[in-house]
Amino acid sequence: MTLKDHIRPVPDFPKPGILFYDISTLLAHAAAWKEAVRQLHAAVAPLKPDVLVGIESRGFLVAAPLALELGVGFVMVRKKGKLPGDTIRHSYALEYGEDTIEIQDGAVQPGQRVVVLDDLLATGGTMAAAVELIRKVGGTVAGSAYLIELSFLKGRERLAALGVPSHSLMVYD
Ligand code: IMP
Repeated sequence: MTLKDHIRPVPDFPKPGILFYDISTLLAHAAAWKEAVRQLHAAVAPLKPDVLVGIESRGFLVAAPLALELGVGFVMVRKKGKLPGDTIRHSYALEYGEDTIEIQDGAVQPGQRVVVLDDLLATGGTMAAAVELIRKVGGTVAGSAYLIELSFLKGRERLAALGVPSHSLMVYD
C-alpha cells in the first residue's frame, strides 16, 4: 500500500467538474496517517523551523502532529474574525472577489524560521497569501509542505517565484 491508496478522489465536489482529493480516509487509517507524518517529518526537519504554521482548516490537521514530532510550536492562520485578541490581516484576490486571513499578533516573532503546512497545493493562491502574512509580521518562510500537490495547477512555480520551496508527499498530474 502507498499513501495514495488512502486518498479518496471524489468527482464533482464541491462543484461539477472538480475532482476533490479527500484526505479523510488517510486520517482514519492509523498506520497510514502515522507514515504520512513520518514522511513529512523527514521533509520538514532539514528546513530547521522554529515554528510551524497551519492554514485553516485541514492545514491544522497536518501541522499540529508534525509540530509535536519536531518539538516546535504550532500557530494557526485563520479566516478573518475567528482569532481572539490583536491580529494582523492580509487580503488577497480570489477568482471572484477577495478573502482575508489573519494571525495573532506575536504568534510568530520577527526573524523566526517558519514552515507553512496545508493539506493540498493547487494554484498556490492560499499558500502565497499565508507567505505574505507571515512576512508582514517579520517571519522568515523557510518552506511549505503538503500531503498532496496538483502539479498541473503550477502552485510550486508560483511559490518558487516568491522564494518559497514546496515539499509534497503525493503528486497528481
Ligand atoms: P490553492 O489556493 O489553489 O492552492 O488551493 C489550495 C487550497 O484549496 C487548500 O487550502 C486546500 O485545502 C483546498 N483544496 C483545493 N482542492 C482540494 C482538494 O482536491 N482536496 C482538498 N482540498 C483542496
